[in-house]
Amino acid sequence: MKIDIMTLFPEMCERVLSESIIGRARKQGFVDIACHNIRDFAGNKHGKVDDMPYGGGMGMVMAAKPIFDCYSSLFDSKTQEKPHLIYMSPKGKTLTQQRVKELSALPHIVILCGHYEGVDERVIEEIVDEEISIGDYVLTGGELPALTLADAVCRMLPGVLSDEECFTEESHYGGLLEYPQYTRPAVWHEKEVPDVLLSGNHKEIANWRRKKSLEITKKRRPDMFEKIDLDKNDLKLLEKSDD
Ligand code: SAM
Repeated sequence: MKIDIMTLFPEMCERVLSESIIGRARKQGFVDIACHNIRDFAGNKHGKVDDMPYGGGMGMVMAAKPIFDCYSSLFDSKTQEKPHLIYMSPKGKTLTQQRVKELSALPHIVILCGHYEGVDERVIEEIVDEEISIGDYVLTGGELPALTLADAVCRMLPGVLSDEECFTEESHYGGLLEYPQYTRPAVWHEKEVPDVLLSGNHKEIANWRRKKSLEITKKRRPDMFEKIDLDKNDLKLLEKSDD
């Protein structure tokens, strides 16, 4: 998969995407990520890419042309299909694990990071396929949202994590929150790891984890719990007391 990020701060994005699991995945060729400086397409000697908003008001607006030219440089419109362009925006649809999964199946996505007051609406109308928000709050720029999206998408790609189970068991993937996790030592600050996890009985461990997932989801996210198709075993687990 190819991910292109259009930004005014390519070094910031590059730095984060070179670390840890995503950095390793890039080196191993599981994903091809490139960060592009919109300022390179400013078309003026000062590298100016923003201007005052028509109608007045605070702040600056990113101009349409540099964004359009940057995007156009990423593919050959005569021979290649238009890559899916996502504009990170607090006005977009809130990102979900389901959308992350769908996006990870695309061959090429481009992510546009806004800054200042945002970008000229006309370029959104002309080239943007989808606007995505990472939550109901406003950040100074689209870089952190773009990095969030790129990270979430990358970890779904085959080979990036050691095993598919790393994400299929996790919160949100199957509509549930994950069960609690523990590591050594078995006793810490007089708190013991639940016996079942030390038992080596895989069936009982799976049942305990499923039960905990159901309970945590029910308590913390009743909206998610309502949507779960509970089977007979789930109902039995929920009835069972912990000891
Ligand atoms: N004036 C815009 C508004 O009120 O909707 C906010 C602009 S914000 C200060 C600058 C840029 O940060 C946006 O263009 C967008 O790319 C990014 N951004 C800020 N908050 C975001 C969020 N919650 N999700 C995704 N992108 C966000």
